Order: sequence, then C-alpha cells, then structure tokens
Amino acid sequence: MVHCQRMNEHVDRAAGVNPAIAGMARSGIRDIMDAAWGRPGVIRLEVGEPDFPTPPHIVEAAHVAMLEGHTGYQPSAGIFPLREALATKVRERNGYTVTPQQTIVTQGGVEALFASLLTLTRPGDEVLLPDPAWPNFLLMAQMLNLNAVTYPLTADAGFVPTLETLEPLVTERTAAIVVNSPSNPLGVVIDRARMTELVEFTERHGLWMVSDECYDEISFDGTFVSPASISAERVVSVYSFSKTYAMTGWRIGYAVAPPTVAPSLAKGQEPIISCVNAPTQYAALAAMTGPQAVVAEMRDAYRQRRDLAISVLDGSPLRAFTPQGAFYLWVDVRATGVPSRELAMRLLEERNVAVAPGTAFGERGEGFLRVSLASSADAISEGLRRLLDLARSL
Ligand code: PMP
Repeated sequence: MVHCQRMNEHVDRAAGVNPAIAGMARSGIRDIMDAAWGRPGVIRLEVGEPDFPTPPHIVEAAHVAMLEGHTGYQPSAGIFPLREALATKVRERNGYTVTPQQTIVTQGGVEALFASLLTLTRPGDEVLLPDPAWPNFLLMAQMLNLNAVTYPLTADAGFVPTLETLEPLVTERTAAIVVNSPSNPLGVVIDRARMTELVEFTERHGLWMVSDECYDEISFDGTFVSPASISAERVVSVYSFSKTYAMTGWRIGYAVAPPTVAPSLAKGQEPIISCVNAPTQYAALAAMTGPQAVVAEMRDAYRQRRDLAISVLDGSPLRAFTPQGAFYLWVDVRATGVPSRELAMRLLEERNVAVAPGTAFGERGEGFLRVSLASSADAISEGLRRLLDLARSL
C-alpha cells in the first residue's frame, strides 16, 4: 500500500513542472515583439539592445584567444587578469576599493543578479523590489521561492525610492533590497543624498543591498553614484559588459561583493554555469584594457537621441521623464485615457511602431510606455511622431 502511494506520488511529481517556473508570468515586452514579428517596415522601439556592433578590437581579442588555445574550463570566479582589471575599473570609475578576489566574472548582469540573490537569501525570505522595474528581478525572486515585496517608484517622487515608502515594508523576513540606478525602464539616476539614505536604511535593518549598476557607464549628468562608494559593507554590486561595450550576445558581466560574500558567490556559480566561456573573458579583458573612447561615443549618441526624443514631445500632451541615464524614455500617456497595453498594441497595429507597455515592468507602469533610445535617431523621432499622431486622434 505504502509502496503504491509512493509510486503515485512519484508519477504526479514526474508529470508536473516546478510551479515556480511553470507559473512564471510571460514578458509583456515579448508580447509586443511577437506581434511585431513579420510586420513589414515596423519601427522597433521596444527592445533594450544597443544598435552598435561590438568594437572590433574586442572581437579580435576573442579570435586571438581561441587561436591561442584558451578554449578550456576556467575558474568559476573568472580569469585572474580580468578580475584584476575589474578591481581597477571599480576603483577608478565607481569610486571604491576592492581586491580582485572580491570581483566575480558572471554570465551577464542577469546571472550576477541571480547568483547574488541566491547567495544572500533563503527560500521564504522577503525581498524588496522596485515597481516599475526590469521584470527579471521578480522572475528571479519567484524562481528562488522568495516573497517579492514591491516598493513604488512614482512620478510624484521623481521615480526614486523614498524612505517613507520603504520603512513600512520591512519585516523580520526581509533579507534584501534590489536597487537599480541608472534604471531600466525609467532612466532615473539616484543621487548621492538619496543613495546615502538607502545605504543607511539597508544597514539599519541588517539587510543586503543588491545594486544593479548595469548602466553605470551610461549616465548623462554626473549624478550617478555607486552605493558601495558610500559604504560597501552590505552591498553587492552588479555590472555588465552588455551596454557599456555593446556586448549583449557575449553574455558577460560581474558582481563585486564584500570579502565575506564573494567566495560563496563564486562557489554558487559552479553548479549553474561552471564558468563564463573563455574567449568571452579574453574579449572582456581587451574591452577593459583597450581604448575607452568607444564607451564615451556610445554614451554621447544616447544623450543626443534623448535630447531629440524630448524635443519631439516638447509642448505635446504627452510628457516624458528626461532620462539621466540608461537608454529609455518613460512616456506618460495617462492623458490618452487608454490603458498602456492597449495603446502599445494600437500603436503597432495602426501606426506600425513597437514600444513596450509600462505594465510590462509592473503594476505601477500603467499609464506609461517605454521607448528604447537604442535605435537610430530617425526611428526614434518618426516613432514618437506617430505616437503623438495616434494620441491626438483618440
Ligand atoms: N539589469 C537591467 C536593469 C537590465 O536592463 C539588464 C538587461 N536588459 C540587465 C540587468 C542584464 O543585462 P545582461 O545580462 O545582458 O548583462
């Protein structure tokens, strides 16, 4: 009898899929991408992917690495020369001092975030996540069986986190807060004064801060600050090569953690990815040690597109938050009275322009659209003109 029950249990479990994965929400950006797929001449402003190629000297370094035989397994934490270069970069550009051992090479920023949350939380813990935010934070929390508690980023508060909204959310189970500056989808950069409050909040409650700084090199007005440069004790910082060096498909980023955390984070990578592929690591090393003009050139291009986008909307009924970083325009479409998803779908169907509905980034994205500035200037201005045209016709 007992044997039978066990068998049935086994069969049921075998037929099922982990509900944390099976129940994962479908991306609201994917929805639009799928609908845009195959439509001739559609203006694509929905994806956040640099339209620049990876600089040639970086591509060349990967070729050379492969030809020289760097094709085997590497340490889980990354090749040492790259970790040294990352420690130098963090000191020079992010303003805090770390050893190479505190830097962990990861499979993109996304895996750095996952490995950080994996290392810093236990199943059942609560984690504070921004809303609106990049949707993967929530998906990771679900996969790790964490209880996601969202904190609002509202237009009234300039889309930055406030202590008034954060303090009441903390419970005995709160383990971590995720902070993202410069932000996707908002383009907001948290200034030093507010970041100091957030770091103090984190320390006061004995939390961890997971600081997503994947757009650290795309900030326009000098207000960007790494929280670890204020106090590094409770902060794990996450960075990426994807945006800075137009390397989205190479899949490489890094985490920087306190000495007490870094070895566990590196160890946690072993069963997930073993290590980042070797040629990519040598390409990343060339990116770090080679000419940096490419970074400034791309940043300048994003800034010009931002200014262009703001000028197209100037004086119209649709207002946009002027992004201080990253490459997204967060457009307030509440004046149209049409829900975000419906408006995004109509823009695609009636004007052939794809943008992301604000609701793809959380409930508090209702009433907003995210327009990517990682497309050509012509596509951005024409896309926004068509959006205005549609809004006026409603
Ligand atoms: N954080 C944010 C806010 C992002 O927008 C992205 C990519 N869109 C990432 C992290 C991860 O980027 P990657 O894994 O390519 O480094």
